[in-house]
Amino acid sequence: MSITPYGAQRTHGAGTLRSEHAGETVTVAGWVDTRRDHGGVAFLDLRDRTGILQVVADPEASDALEAAHRVRSEWVLRITGTVRERPEGMVNEKLPTGSIELAATSVEVLSAAETPPFPIEDEIDVSEELRLRHRYVDLRRNRLARNLRMRAQTLAVIRRVMERNGFMDVETPVLTRPTPEGARDFLVPSRLQPGESYALPQSPQLFKQLLMVAGIERYYQIARCFRDENLRADRQPEFTQLDLELSFGDEEDVYALMEEMFGEIFAEVLDVTLPESFPRITFEEAMRRFGSDKPDLRFAMELADLGGVFADTEVGVFKGVLSGGGAVVALALPSGGELTRREFDEWTEWAKRRGAKGLAWGVVEGGDDGPTLRSPLSKFMSAEEIAGVLSETGAEVGDAVFFGAGPVTFARTLMGALRVALAEERGLIPEGRWEFCWVVEPPMFDPADESDDPTAANAEGWVPNHHPFTAPAPEFDDDFEQRPGEATARAYDIVLNGVELASGSVRIHDAEVQRRVLRFLGISDEDAEEKFGFLLRGFRYGVPPHAGIAPGIDRVVMLLCGERSIREVIAFPKTQTGADPMTDAPAPYDEIALGELGLRLAPKPSRKN
Ligand code: ASP
Repeated sequence: MSITPYGAQRTHGAGTLRSEHAGETVTVAGWVDTRRDHGGVAFLDLRDRTGILQVVADPEASDALEAAHRVRSEWVLRITGTVRERPEGMVNEKLPTGSIELAATSVEVLSAAETPPFPIEDEIDVSEELRLRHRYVDLRRNRLARNLRMRAQTLAVIRRVMERNGFMDVETPVLTRPTPEGARDFLVPSRLQPGESYALPQSPQLFKQLLMVAGIERYYQIARCFRDENLRADRQPEFTQLDLELSFGDEEDVYALMEEMFGEIFAEVLDVTLPESFPRITFEEAMRRFGSDKPDLRFAMELADLGGVFADTEVGVFKGVLSGGGAVVALALPSGGELTRREFDEWTEWAKRRGAKGLAWGVVEGGDDGPTLRSPLSKFMSAEEIAGVLSETGAEVGDAVFFGAGPVTFARTLMGALRVALAEERGLIPEGRWEFCWVVEPPMFDPADESDDPTAANAEGWVPNHHPFTAPAPEFDDDFEQRPGEATARAYDIVLNGVELASGSVRIHDAEVQRRVLRFLGISDEDAEEKFGFLLRGFRYGVPPHAGIAPGIDRVVMLLCGERSIREVIAFPKTQTGADPMTDAPAPYDEIALGELGLRLAPKPSRKN
């Protein structure tokens, strides 16, 4: 036996009917999308997962007409009738079913519905809270239904590519011990072991490495990961990764696999052909040229380091910053001369909100002796300096030049953020472009103040840039402890249009190097034994060299769908404060159950929202 395509209660999907069905008697079922009641005749648009069909009830079938008078938006109906061509002039080109209609002979109400809390339309102006509270209604909207379909399609392609390449789907536990990825853990107290707790995995990292010890060689999983972070920007406490790991391979295998996979996803889901391979750019180069470790390569506006140009400058701020080892970084904004004084001031305020002391700017103007810079600072600049600014930034007549100064990373990051903000504001980012790149050779360690979780820092203030299982670049194998600020890691990110889609690395597969990294991070051998003893023990039984990566599915699908938030591509997401307005989770817990867990909840602090 096999299941019928549309279920036993109907013969066709509403959206599948075409002129070729004219004359056939069919039964369809779905929701009332819209209705127009003209008294003598009533028109209903019936919606199901396959699309929309116009149904006509007229006095020839009086019972059907009577029922059609009664029904309201979003009632669930089953309708039998005859498919017929629409009269001349009534064809709706926009609808795939637009050449036909269904002349109803019977209209059966399967369920009545209250008036929906908001219209089922693509563009609606209602609060996200209301949409999430009634997510089941929200998901009827075409846009969200399409997003979920594209998500499922993406996952199907992923599974196919992984299986084709010999990767095996293995599930790893959700109730487990902490896996460090730089966030806080969600804890699940144990009833059977009072006083003890499971942690939800921040990723399957440790298990996938142990699967390599186990000889699986090629593992993948569509894995849910849990990270208890302050929900800044567009994060979810639980999110989905394609998690994968491979043995006896290295960076090149991961690059090739991901390029094949993304190529196939984009071809199939968007009909877009990606290049065979993605450009690779080192972390250092990305920071220098774009002021970001996730460079948006859809537009130029590259940063220029003006340390050389201003080496002997009389511009006080630049001189001070450069003599203190900082950087002066500039970028040219095409046609930025159009900006008003007020707009320049607003960008200066923008920079101050990000901790800058200010933002210098100038406009390139034509002159008899060639282009010059009109700027509050230009009277302090020599002609050579101005020429240097123009040649380093590539600014032309009519462009604006912005200058940021400060400690090197700060100045670069500030100007990198300005680059993106200006390009967005001025509409300089071309639509429909997909610029992938690999960002490689990142630092092995970051100063804790740049990290998500400074509490994880060692005594000298270093935290891992990726995670503590990432291999150092071979030239730092012996002495990363002595030069932590220089050491690079065998790690890589995939960046698309300025969004980080995946991080991964070649792993440490030498128990001694692993211990040294953990020790350097301030994790004593006893602590390591306590926290990751199972991994280190596993490594004693023969571990192959291995590498892996984990693309974030929510972000990938968000970009494919052209959405700006991952919440639009998750069926039941949580709000920015980690709440679900539909289920009202998280919720106070039953006292008895808490007692069994040996727990008592502290009184709820007053909530801001
Ligand atoms: N476990 C890592 C993460 O979640 C990815 C990886 O290294 O494979 O970022």
